[in-house]
Amino acid sequence: MKAFEFATAQRIRFGWGVLEESGSIASTLGRRAFLVRGKKHPDLPRLMDLLDQSRVSVVEFVVTEEPSVDLVRQAVAQARAAGCDCVIGFGGGSVLDTAKAVSALLTNTGCLEDYLEVVGQGQALEVLAAPCLAIPTTAGTGSEVTRNAVLGVPEAGVKVSLRSHLMLPTVALVDPALTCSLPPKITAYTGMDALTQVLEPYVSVRANPMTDLFCREGLQRASWALLAAFKDGNDKDARTAMTWVSLLGGLALANAGLGAVHGLAAPIGGMFKAPHGAICARLLPLVTRVNLQALRNRQPENPILERYHEIARWLTRREEAQAEDGVTWLEEMVDILDIPGLGAYGMTHEHIPTIVERGLRASSMKANPIALTAEELTMILEEAL
Ligand code: NAD
Repeated sequence: MKAFEFATAQRIRFGWGVLEESGSIASTLGRRAFLVRGKKHPDLPRLMDLLDQSRVSVVEFVVTEEPSVDLVRQAVAQARAAGCDCVIGFGGGSVLDTAKAVSALLTNTGCLEDYLEVVGQGQALEVLAAPCLAIPTTAGTGSEVTRNAVLGVPEAGVKVSLRSHLMLPTVALVDPALTCSLPPKITAYTGMDALTQVLEPYVSVRANPMTDLFCREGLQRASWALLAAFKDGNDKDARTAMTWVSLLGGLALANAGLGAVHGLAAPIGGMFKAPHGAICARLLPLVTRVNLQALRNRQPENPILERYHEIARWLTRREEAQAEDGVTWLEEMVDILDIPGLGAYGMTHEHIPTIVERGLRASSMKANPIALTAEELTMILEEAL
């Protein structure tokens, strides 16, 4: 067995209703919390009550869209000025990533650019981030257990990561009940992101025996739960399963990396106001088909090919399914979930060369099972429009 590393949050608490423990857990992390949250959530008043009962005072910061470097700068300044000693993120990946970046910069003294990959100096964080409690309300990103925060850099037209094992959240409190208020459209986008994040690490060049376990479990659960959660947002089993898939995706991607879907999603998300999950959803079947063809043409002996057969069997739940059947399943899912073409967000043929050039430099691209050519990436993007 090859050597590998596995790192995650210090503590993961998963289950229906575990939000009730948020106050007591937060009180072990600090006394004055910087609470990063989304616009509104039906359980926000309950969270505030629980924090109050546990004598954790709160300074609120509201995140309404996917975070940029500027937004994080503002948040850090407020958290420092208010003397916060811990951070709580209560929301989707946008909120959790902001919370994680703030917790990292509360203790590390450099400026954000010093630590950013691709557009910054890419310096390593020096010290452990401030204590952070991550409470996801979408079932998509798994950010509650990942070591990065994805931030938009609008002037460069890219999304890049602040990344270090020192910024893994201290506690991930994962309560599937918090996802019941997601409307079908966001359930679809975020659910496809979760599915992508158990599929890409399974065929990643950095896959390891531990992340394989998570991906296998995640792919099998997502095969029925994604559609069930989309059709009935109050289906407790489906919401629980998809929240579990999202957590598994976070555990897998943080330790095995991703692939070309995320490699292309980074520049597309940086150039257009398109939800991250919708971009991944649109690209997933296209990238899977092209990866499969490229492997068969250039590396027919590559053992990763067998993994595409396994994925097909798990997704279709048919023993005799072949790799192509898995791609067809993904294509059908994109249709049923009504995922729009990327042209809907303003992307045109003219943008494709820039996206390809930036995608080739994206960190996720390096984990793709085979190096795709600029022509192959162009073909994927043409079809994704
Ligand atoms: P999001 O956090 O942007 O939320 C999408 C929308 O859903 C927002 O309008 C939000 O207000 C709303 N929402 C959230 N929870 C809700 C709920 N329970 N009920 C109703 N509405 C709710 O979406 P996301 O897909 O969770 O996160 C996307 C961001 O995460 C992107 O910036 C992406 O790049 C990043 N990301 C990070 C990682 C990581 O490992 N750090 C991994 C994948 C993606």
